This record gives sequence, structure tokens and C-alpha cells, in this order.
Amino acid sequence: MTTPYDTDAIRAQFPILQRTVGEASAPLVYLDNTATSQTPDCVVRAIVDGYTRTKANVHRGVHTLSQEATDAQEATRRRVQRFIGAGSHEEIIFTRGTTEAINLVAASYCSLLQPGDEIVITVMEHHSDIVPWQLAAERHGLRLKAVPLREGSSELDLDAYARLLSERTRVVAFTAVSNVLGTVNPVRRMVDMAHAAGAVVLVDAAQAVAHERVDVQAWDADFVAFSSHKMYGPTGIGVLYGRRQLLERMPPYQGGGEMIAHVDIDRSTWADLPFKFEAGTPDFVGIAALSTAIDWMEATGIERIAAHENSLLRRAEEAMRAMPGVRIFGDAPGKCAIISFLMGTEASAYDIGFLLDQMGIAVRTGHHCAQPLMHVLGVSGVVRASFAAYNTEAEVDAFVAALRRIHKIFHL
Ligand code: PMP
Repeated sequence: MTTPYDTDAIRAQFPILQRTVGEASAPLVYLDNTATSQTPDCVVRAIVDGYTRTKANVHRGVHTLSQEATDAQEATRRRVQRFIGAGSHEEIIFTRGTTEAINLVAASYCSLLQPGDEIVITVMEHHSDIVPWQLAAERHGLRLKAVPLREGSSELDLDAYARLLSERTRVVAFTAVSNVLGTVNPVRRMVDMAHAAGAVVLVDAAQAVAHERVDVQAWDADFVAFSSHKMYGPTGIGVLYGRRQLLERMPPYQGGGEMIAHVDIDRSTWADLPFKFEAGTPDFVGIAALSTAIDWMEATGIERIAAHENSLLRRAEEAMRAMPGVRIFGDAPGKCAIISFLMGTEASAYDIGFLLDQMGIAVRTGHHCAQPLMHVLGVSGVVRASFAAYNTEAEVDAFVAALRRIHKIFHL
């Protein structure tokens, strides 16, 4: 028999949720989880342990502390490998985040391409899955194309995607889950279509990894990128999964310590995977603590967390749809627990976010690093509320009550 989902017990592990905000000392209702999720005690303790017990540079010393720090980092590499179903720990590269992981692939893999080769992305990408490809396109004379949304829909137009794929397509990059619309893209189908056209695929899993079980082999993806801070882990760390045959062909992204086999003044040779792509001292304390965050997510149950978040999503959306003048952006079936919205025409996203903050409710406002998608939606910004493992029905009700007050303020 499974134990019931105990939100109180979960919340007790996140001391930040006890704090109040603003002059009115309103209890914090944290609904900005898509931007970053909070971190449980056990992960904070792992970070403190790292700094108070084992801090020493990794892969550099014979002394005990260095060996312990190295062991902790390499254990995390294997933990991540198991977590995402990668074939080998050498295919797991630690980066500063999703952004750096995508930049690594765009800079390194695209240097192998020829002028006129094509990259396909989508209009719902985060800027971190657009700009690195633009930089690579400019540097190597590549063409960048974007898959549109289906007319009147929050889903990608897969017919248009099929038409955009050509014999010149070398890379396809898309997000598994939209950080604005919550749309869950059909990853395996899109990967298969790209492979049939002879392209490699990068999946941006930043928004997927804390809400669904990511299996890189089931996706058959060539590259997968995600960030620790969105999965209850420390900030400043990310992961790039890459298929070994591709990583082996790719030149280093950055040069420095740890990524070399041998250095002469005029040339160097590279270390084996994964170190070829890990120049310099990493955040080894944070990396070790990422392992604890993964343990926490698995112990709590990713599927159970997602089911809980989805029930909060339904509760909030039902109430919001009954409010005149509220526009919700994102209605794809099975969408992730993200609600992007606007109220009437008078209240800007910033106004709504500001007023919610006065009532203790933290949401994100603005273009959400997705300006091309904002253009498609015909708005300059939206308000976004998003749910995580520790949010409660009472918080949803407080959020909805706050929206009703804002509704009155603007006479909607
Ligand atoms: N992709 C998506 C879909 C995201 O939501 C985000 C973060 N908002 C990123 C990439 C970038 O992640 P990071 O800033 O951690 O590198």
C-alpha cells in the first residue's frame, strides 16, 4: 500500500516556505517554481557537509579530502546516469546549467558543420535554446528555422516541422516542456522525425526533469540538457547528456585545467570523456549535493509529485476560467503545472505580479525568456504561476482569492 501524499511533511523539509514577505508580513506562497524550485533541508545539509568536511579540489590531489571530494562528484555522475537512463557515466558532463550545456553543443557540434547546413528549433524555445544557435549560425554560415505552433493551438505544428526538415538539416533542438505554455512536446516522435532526416537532436529538458521521468534512451535523444536548480538541487550546476560517438568527435568547448591529456606550448591533446568538456574547477560541492536532490525526488516519487501538481493546476484553472477577463495561455492536453495568464486589458503582467507580491504570492512576470513566443501570442508579457511538490490547495485558494481582489481593483 502506498502512503498518502503528505504535503505537510514535505513542506516541513523546506524552511524557506515558513517565511513571510513584505510590510504586511504575508505568509509566502511560492508559485515561481518554473523559474527555480526551492531546496529541501537534506540538500542544504549536503552542501554544508561539503564545505565543512570534504572541501578540496577534485581530481587533483592524493590527499584524503581531495579523494573524498572526487568520489562524491563521480558518484553523482553515476547517480545522474542512472536517473536519466544514460548508457555510460562518460556521457554525463557537468555544466553551469541548461544554458551552458546548450552553448557547449552549439559551439562545439556546429563547428563540424558546413555553410548552408540547417538547424531547426521551435518558436516556443527559451532564449537559451535560440541564441546559442544564432551565434553558431553566424559563425559557420548555417541557416536557422523555427517550427511554428498549430493555428489557434498551444502545440507545435508537426506537419510544418516535417516540411522544415530537409537533407541539409543537421541539428534539431527543442524543449520537452514549454516554460510558458506548459505544453509537453511529443519528444520521441520529434526525435524519430529528425533522425529520419539525418539530423542529431538536442532536447532541452530544463522544464521536464522535475515533472516526468526522463529516459534519454527511451527518447533516443543525442543531447539532453537540464539544470539542478529546477529540480530541488543547488543552483549553478547543470547536466549535458551526450551520445558518446558524438561527444568523441566534437572539439572541446573551453580550454583549461582538467580537460587535457598533454600540453605543450604550441599544442595540446584532450582528456577522455567526460573531462574533455569540463575545463576548470567545477562546483564540486554543489554537484555532490545534486545527488541528494535526485534521491529526494525519487524518494518522494516523481510521478506522485506530478500528480499532486496537476491536481493543483486543475483547481486553479477551474477557478480562473470562471473569472471574466482572465486569459490563460496554454491549453494543450496533458500540459505541465504551469499557468500563464493576463487579466483584462488594463492590468499589465507587471501590475498583477506586483499586487500578488503585496499579498505574499510570488509569481513570474514578463516575457519569460521566450520573446519569439510572446510575439506569436501577441503580447509583450504574461504572468506565470507554477506548482511544485510542496504547494498546497490552501495556497491555490489564496492565489485565487488574491486574483479576485485584483479583479475588483481593475473593475474587470
Ligand atoms: N530552457 C527552459 C525551457 C527553461 O525554462 C530554462 C530556465 N527558465 C532554461 C532553458 C535555462 O535554464 P538555466 O537558466 O538554468 O540555464
